Amino acid sequence: FVVEQHPNHPDYLICELETSRGCAYRCSFCTEPLYGDPAFRAPDSVVGEVDALSDRGVAHFRLGRQADILAYGGDGEAPNPDALRELYGGIREVAPELRTLHLDNMNPVTITDYPEASREAIRVIAEHNTPGDTAAFGLESADPVVQEENNLLVTAEECLEAVRVVNEEGGWRPGDTPETTPGDPDRVTGPSTGPDASPRLPKLLPGINLVHGLTGERPETYEHNKRFLQTVYDEGLMLRRINIRQVMAFAGTEMAETGAEIAQEHKDQFQAYKREVRETIDNPMLDRVVPPGTVLPDLHLEYHQDGKTFGRQLGTYALLVAVPGERELGTTVDVAITDHGYRSVTGVPYPLDVNAASMDELTAVPGINRNTAGDIVVGRPYDSVADVDAVDPGIVDLGAYAV
Ligand code: SF4
Repeated sequence: FVVEQHPNHPDYLICELETSRGCAYRCSFCTEPLYGDPAFRAPDSVVGEVDALSDRGVAHFRLGRQADILAYGGDGEAPNPDALRELYGGIREVAPELRTLHLDNMNPVTITDYPEASREAIRVIAEHNTPGDTAAFGLESADPVVQEENNLLVTAEECLEAVRVVNEEGGWRPGDTPETTPGDPDRVTGPSTGPDASPRLPKLLPGINLVHGLTGERPETYEHNKRFLQTVYDEGLMLRRINIRQVMAFAGTEMAETGAEIAQEHKDQFQAYKREVRETIDNPMLDRVVPPGTVLPDLHLEYHQDGKTFGRQLGTYALLVAVPGERELGTTVDVAITDHGYRSVTGVPYPLDVNAASMDELTAVPGINRNTAGDIVVGRPYDSVADVDAVDPGIVDLGAYAV
């Protein structure tokens, strides 16, 4: 009941449900093993919690803080797709109107060790989650020396294979058809969202976590990491986001002895490398994951800056979206993406009303310059988007954005 007293209730509130504690592995910097081997909550316990929250008006959920969602309900290491089906299916049953269902972490070593069961488990997740979901992979370092010295679990090659698997099983978009699905024509494609089959974010994509300052780190470590990310990009694969951070030395972990010394020594190289990854990988990757025309529902408008309104969806690693004009804060709007920067995107309200859209909104649409936008405004009113074509045939590509 306490959720009802939250100032963001009901529309801008996401509830995180814990599914497990502990981990079967022992990476040098991590505090999770301090909770011991994994213990899982039973599906009916989590489902019951969603049911109660849903009855109180909550529509956004995240299955959070687990070491590995694939291990849920299993022996600690091997996937148990049936337990995931019970968990996700149960949640969908008690909260059929939910707007967000995302997860937190997935361990790539599970995919390496149990490829077929993992594929099945990923399919279960992608059938039940909502678009834009991210499976954060703790690669931590692509450098074999750092991997060895810190008990890291997967090599760069193994992590690359795990990235392929999640792309194949979860990288489809609602509304995809075999013809429009990139990559392998036989890959799983999702059902259409119904009458509104405009492209959405992919259902489930990997995220990559990289940690710097670990024992054994050397100048080549940065090259190994960049090479790994470049290979992912060059193979045409999608990553939802890349998280690069410097290690924090927590008491009780092996890294507590080494401390933050290495991170401090490599600070300059770290900053330059981070910038390079933003420019050479993040930027083109965003275009691949969120091409113009992608629709993001339920964007919550948070603040104004430079004549624009910025907002985000609820969910894991939500994209920051800039919308032209100063719209009312605290409200929600669906947007269609028109362009992207390094870590944020631009979008216009979706569907755009061609009889009411502002000049700034019209010029944000790819292919419309100020002259064309001016002609569109002068030619109002229109009975349909097709009539706008008469204004400037061939230039206006409003179909994906407007009604
Ligand atoms: S980093 Fe992940 S796999 Fe390693 S000990 Fe922590 S939770 Fe387990």
